[in-house]
Amino acid sequence: MTDALFIDVEVDASVAQDRELAAKLTEVCPVDIFAQSDDGALEIVQENLDECVLCELCINAAPPGTVKVIKLYSGETLPAGAAVAGG
Ligand code: SF4
Repeated sequence: MTDALFIDVEVDASVAQDRELAAKLTEVCPVDIFAQSDDGALEIVQENLDECVLCELCINAAPPGTVKVIKLYSGETLPAGAAVAGG
């Protein structure tokens, strides 16, 4: 579940559990939507989600298709054309 009203971010489990990718995402996001737990796994900072500036840096930092930014207000997903995985 998410508290965010406007933005949701979906990260593939393969990325979330990869310390190096998690660190990269934590570093690139200008509004600190990503963080790392003590074991290095990726965490999404729910309260920062709506600060997303749609810069796509996270999308470009991870393998294609593993990070998606969803505009809840319009139903659009970045990168454009990506399907939102069910569940
Ligand atoms: S699009 Fe930019 S601001 Fe939004 S989550 Fe990704 S890196 Fe952060």
